[in-house]
Amino acid sequence: MKTTASEVIAFVRENDVKFIRLAFCDIFGTQKNISIMPSELERALEGGVSFDAAAIRGFRSDTSDLMLKPDPGTLSVLPWRPSQGRVIRFFCNVITPKGGPFTGDTRALLSREVERAQRMGLTCRIGPECEFYLFRLDEDGDPTLIPHDRGGYADVAPKDRGENVRREICLTLEEMGIAPEASHHEQGPGQNEIDFRYSGALTAADNLITLRTVVKNIAARNGLYASFMPKPLPDVSGSGLHVNLSLAKNGLNIFRNGPFEHSKDAESFIAGVLARARETAAFLNPLTNSYRRLGILEAPSHVAWAHGMRDELIRIPAAEGEYARMELRSPDPAMNPYLGFALILRAGLDGIEAGLPLPAPASGEEYLPKTLGEALTIAEESAFVKSAIPPDVLAEYLAAKRREAEHILAADPEAAERALYFEE
Ligand code: GLU
Ligand code: MG
Ligand code: MG
Repeated sequence: MKTTASEVIAFVRENDVKFIRLAFCDIFGTQKNISIMPSELERALEGGVSFDAAAIRGFRSDTSDLMLKPDPGTLSVLPWRPSQGRVIRFFCNVITPKGGPFTGDTRALLSREVERAQRMGLTCRIGPECEFYLFRLDEDGDPTLIPHDRGGYADVAPKDRGENVRREICLTLEEMGIAPEASHHEQGPGQNEIDFRYSGALTAADNLITLRTVVKNIAARNGLYASFMPKPLPDVSGSGLHVNLSLAKNGLNIFRNGPFEHSKDAESFIAGVLARARETAAFLNPLTNSYRRLGILEAPSHVAWAHGMRDELIRIPAAEGEYARMELRSPDPAMNPYLGFALILRAGLDGIEAGLPLPAPASGEEYLPKTLGEALTIAEESAFVKSAIPPDVLAEYLAAKRREAEHILAADPEAAERALYFEE
C-alpha cells in the first residue's frame, strides 16, 4: 500500500499513469469524480484540487468551491481501463479552501467515529456482504426487468449463469487490492452476492463504493445490467447489504470470550445498535423501495437479535475467534456506507458508554418503520441523529428524501421507483 505523497508520485511516474481520478461521494453515497493529469498530482496532494460544490447534491457551502485532497493510502489502478496510459483512482477528503474539513463529507464523519472508537481502545472491523441483481439488456442495449437466469441460492451452472461475471468481479477486486472472501448465486433469479473479508470501517466503506463501480462495469462488459435496487422484483428476494461488525480490544475480538459468550462491551454495543435501529432506518434504508424488502424473505423488520435466525435485525452467527461478530441485516446497498457505518458505530459506542444491557434474544415490541416517510419522521425527531450528523447536512438529507418520498407517492409508485432507483 502506498501511504505517503512521495510514494504515490513515484508510482505514477514508474507505472505509465496518464489519468488520476479523484473520487468522493455526495451525502447520499453516490460516487463522483474529477480527473486530473499526473502533472497536477503534487498540487492535489498538497492543497487539494477545487470543484464546483454547488453542483453536488447536499453540498451546501459558503463558497461554491471546495477542494478534493487525495488520501494516498487509497491508490488503486482501475483494471478495466487501458493498461498503457493507466488510470488510477484515489478516494479524497473534501476540504474547504482554507484547508479545514467540510461538514458534508460523510467520509470524514465516519473517520470521526472510528477515532472515537480508538480513543475507547477499540478497533472496529467491518466485513460487508453485498447482494445485487443481473438483468438482460434489450436489442438497443437498454436494461430490461428480465433476470439473467432462473437460478436460486448457491446454484451451479448451467442454472447459474452468473459464474463468469462473479469470477471477473472477484479477480478485478483482487487486482485492486480488495479481498473478496466468497461469492455465490443468491435466492432470487439473476441475484448474486459478493462477501468481503473484514477491514477497517473506512476501508470497508471505500470498498463498497468500488464494488458498485466494478460490478456495473463488468456486468456491462458481459452484456448485462447490474442493479443494487433493494427490491427490483416484487415477489422474490430483495438485495441486502449485511454488515458484519466486530471490535477488537488490545488485539482481541470482544465479540467472543468462549462458546456463545460475548464480553459485556460487545453486548452493550449490540444493545446500542438495537436502541437506535428505528432512528437510523432513514439512512440505512434510504429509498421508498427499501421498505418493500423489509419484513419478508429473510430481510428483518423486528428490532431484536438472535443467534441463528435470519429474520431478526441482528444475528450472531456461529463463528469462532477472529470471525466472531454481529451481523446487522437491515441495511441495503442503496445506503451511503460512510454515513451508515458512522451511525451504526456511534449507536454501538453510545451503548458501551451507557453500559446498556442486552435484551433477551428475539424479544421486544419494536419494528422498523414501514415506509420511508415514517422513517424520516422518526429521524427528524431523533436527538441521536441530530447529535451524529451536522445540522445543515441533516436538513439537506431529510428535505431531499422527503421530496423524493412525496414525488413517488403522488405518482404510480412502482413505475416511479423503477425510473428513479433502477440505476442504483
Ligand atoms: N436477500 C435477503 C435480504 O434481503 C438476505 C438473504 C441472506 O441471508 O443472504 O436481506
Ligand atoms: Mg445473502
Ligand atoms: Mg448474511
